[in-house]
Amino acid sequence: MSLPTPEDVQAAARLLAGVAPRTPVLRSTTIDQLFGAQLYFKCENVQRTGSFKFRGAYCALAQFSEPQRGKGVLSYSSGNHAQAIALAARLHDIPALVVVPHDADVAKMEAARGYGAQVVTYDRTKEDREALSQRLALERGMSVVPPADHPQVIAGQGTVALELLQDFPRLDYLFVPVGGGALLAGSLLAREALGSDCEIVGVEPEAANRARQSLKAGHPVTIAHSRTIADAAQATALAPLAFDIIRSAAPPMPSATDAQLLDALRFFAQRMKLVVEPTGALAFAGARDGGMDIRGKRVGIIVSGGNVDLARYARFLSD
Ligand SMILES: *Cc1c(COP(=O)(O)O)cnc(C)c1O
Repeated sequence: MSLPTPEDVQAAARLLAGVAPRTPVLRSTTIDQLFGAQLYFKCENVQRTGSFKFRGAYCALAQFSEPQRGKGVLSYSSGNHAQAIALAARLHDIPALVVVPHDADVAKMEAARGYGAQVVTYDRTKEDREALSQRLALERGMSVVPPADHPQVIAGQGTVALELLQDFPRLDYLFVPVGGGALLAGSLLAREALGSDCEIVGVEPEAANRARQSLKAGHPVTIAHSRTIADAAQATALAPLAFDIIRSAAPPMPSATDAQLLDALRFFAQRMKLVVEPTGALAFAGARDGGMDIRGKRVGIIVSGGNVDLARYARFLSD
């Protein structure tokens, strides 16, 4: 597969116009005073399906040929990509099958079903999701759209940063959460598309800091079975396509602990009235606690998603 380009991000933005809403950017003078910086929160937690994943999924399905459309699409993910594929498939009128771990967030699984997708569960400690997905896809002649290792997915995810940098061209920093790396790779392409010199920063869960380790090693490093509450950033490795883009830009890569994520969740709920899932709080936690000096700067933060089971969310807030 060929690497996506900055032009692909611009094409994705045209494709998504009128389909994926341009999400709001929230500001708060109280928060700015607290940080001694200007913070711009790009709220993908209110994107369709509750995360930015809808953008990439819609763009990937738009490229399907007629025969592919007839056979359908298969996706595997911790949940947000599955939901995104399910809705995008419905909009494109393509059948969808999603493969999710049996212990995936219940709300996410139900949502994928609600959008009309067939859901297959597997045990993540016993089965390899990619092997299982490949087998099912082969049996049914379905096309697989992975959550990150796909040029159109990366281009679609890049439209989040494209919108933010278009709306606020003078940002000094943009903090981006990292799982498989598509959102970060897409953000780097968006910066290039706009000729911006904003510094893009990737933030990972401390227990799953693949990107940092991969940049150091020079190849994608695998971390199997990481334990973190940031369930949407638990990919075992960076997607090879994303890694290529990330490696050549070599962005700073701070990380956040689960305790910092919990604190960030409470901050969003209390100060900003936002329901954010743990992974959605990564970028903010990285900006606040990641050791980078943001004082006096204009700082973009991608709030990447808000899909969290309410009972689990209640525990997060009260713990
Ligand atoms: C998928 C996801 C991420 C990580 O994005 P990648 O493209 O996999 O790096 C971050 N936050 C949320 C809410 C996600 O669903």
